[in-house]
Amino acid sequence: MEMEKLVSLCRRRGFLFQSSEIYGGLNGFWDYGPLGVELKRNVKEAWWRDMVTGHDDLDAPAGAPSAYEMTGLDCTIIMHPQVWKCSGHYDLFHDFMQTCRHCKKLFRSDHVWDMLKDAPWVLSFAEVFSAADFDNSQVVFSSPEALRWAQKKGKKLAPGLALVRNPSVTISWLAQDLANMPDMDLSLPTLMQYVATEQKAATGLQTPCPNCGGDLTEPREFNLMFETYTGAVRDEENKTFLRPETAQGIFVNFKNVLDSTRIKIPFGVAQMGKSFRNEITPRNFTFRSREFEQMEIEFFCHPDLSREWYEYWRDRRMKWYVDLGLAGDRLQLREHPPEELSHYSTGTSDIEYAFPFLQPGTFGELEGIAHRGDFDLRSHMEGKLDEKSDPLQLELGDDGKPKYKGSGRDLTYRDDASGQKYTPHVIEPSAGADRATLAFLCEAYTEDEAPDDKGKMKTRTVMKFHPRLAPIKAAVFPLVKKDGMPEIAKDIYRELKKDFNVFYDEKGAVGRRYRRQDEAGTPFCITVDGETLTDNTVTIRDRDSLEQRRVKIDDVPAEIARRLANDGL
Ligand code: ATP
Repeated sequence: MEMEKLVSLCRRRGFLFQSSEIYGGLNGFWDYGPLGVELKRNVKEAWWRDMVTGHDDLDAPAGAPSAYEMTGLDCTIIMHPQVWKCSGHYDLFHDFMQTCRHCKKLFRSDHVWDMLKDAPWVLSFAEVFSAADFDNSQVVFSSPEALRWAQKKGKKLAPGLALVRNPSVTISWLAQDLANMPDMDLSLPTLMQYVATEQKAATGLQTPCPNCGGDLTEPREFNLMFETYTGAVRDEENKTFLRPETAQGIFVNFKNVLDSTRIKIPFGVAQMGKSFRNEITPRNFTFRSREFEQMEIEFFCHPDLSREWYEYWRDRRMKWYVDLGLAGDRLQLREHPPEELSHYSTGTSDIEYAFPFLQPGTFGELEGIAHRGDFDLRSHMEGKLDEKSDPLQLELGDDGKPKYKGSGRDLTYRDDASGQKYTPHVIEPSAGADRATLAFLCEAYTEDEAPDDKGKMKTRTVMKFHPRLAPIKAAVFPLVKKDGMPEIAKDIYRELKKDFNVFYDEKGAVGRRYRRQDEAGTPFCITVDGETLTDNTVTIRDRDSLEQRRVKIDDVPAEIARRLANDGL
């Protein structure tokens, strides 16, 4: 599937718009349109229902070490600044960024080479040297060809590239090095660094800008948290942050949840809501946004059972995506190898999806499931722990005192039955509502062949959403706007509206109306036609099979409910 087609459908049919579009948009911010808001609400509601309200607290589900309880929270976006000092976000939530000295664009250092692979000027340059494989092709360099490219295509596509701005000086470094080292390993990435470097002796080889080819600055640290001030005075004292994750609200309320309920370990607390990260290179539609929604669970368990609980949650969360239609080889579970884990963690895995905007064979993270030990509760209790210390110890400042003080509150747990007191271990399944919605959109987009009004086969675009996620569950049409058909159709619409999000449409040819619903992903279309007037039946058309069945009007609500239930609603 080509991403452009999905992006255009999302805009045309009101799934997603660029935020503040009439003012040119704001990079990294997206608005959900009339269909998009329903889709995203359905994703979040499915998560909340499946993880929290629909969870059976009494019996152990398949694969779980025991029964467990689930509950929820809704915490504020702005929290006490100490929360972020103890969580580590204040000191550690950094990315390295580089700026282009030419076009001034900012890039996340770990994204630069991935972006270069897709950059129009790189693809055009690679064509000249027939370098099909970005990482592995060896280039047979030719100065005249490079200069010809620089004068024509390069000028337009990469105005900042040293080879374009000062060709003779730039080429002379490469020529000199090739003369001194005839066996030099000249891959495309190396060649690109040479053509981005004007003064090699002074600067060393430069990394080119994916946008204009200009040279990038050295990587600099950049904190991803958005800052603001609470109260009228804008001084350091009043500086606060927009939360970069929802998880911390759960940790700091751990004791409140215990004290206000009769919940016992093992239990999970879920929260969903907005998070904010000042991403340096927001891109790929909503995949990397600056404002997004997360769906997070902190699951508290006994340390001895944490590995089993980690495995349970990893598999449970993977199954959730499969059940909602993300099947096949586009979805994968990637277990982090032991050397990538923090020493206090017994396991971490990512659920990943092969988004169509990524290079073939690469996957993007939908959700991370991490065993976090007792790191978070202890940090909020004792003060920020040093993540690298083993066993975990308080991080100390230059004066030898704790760098960030904890709350001093007792966040341990006392097991009434055994009398044992301990700091629970945590399993954290952390998902993104926008990334999941985007994956469901990508997976749903289908082009197939269907007959038009005259029975001629035509290409049709259909969003094959799982019925639970479909923004509209059914549409009701009168075949024509006369003979009392609209009145009957409106009655059916009103009856169905009591339980489902349904849509009424009487405008234009019925074939066109079907196509519009196919694009919206509506699973069922109900049509009142001539036969209805004689035998009180209507047709129900199935979005995917295109099958049309006649059903008695009185049976329509039960039939729609039955079909949705069969599909897991
Ligand atoms: P990435 O490596 O892609 O930046 P991450 O590992 O930092 O992601 P987490 O901190 O684990 O992400 O956040 C949990 C989830 O929140 C992610 O799996 C993703 O679904 C979502 N998420 C994180 N950052 C963004 C973002 N900038 N835009 C949209 N969703 C995001």
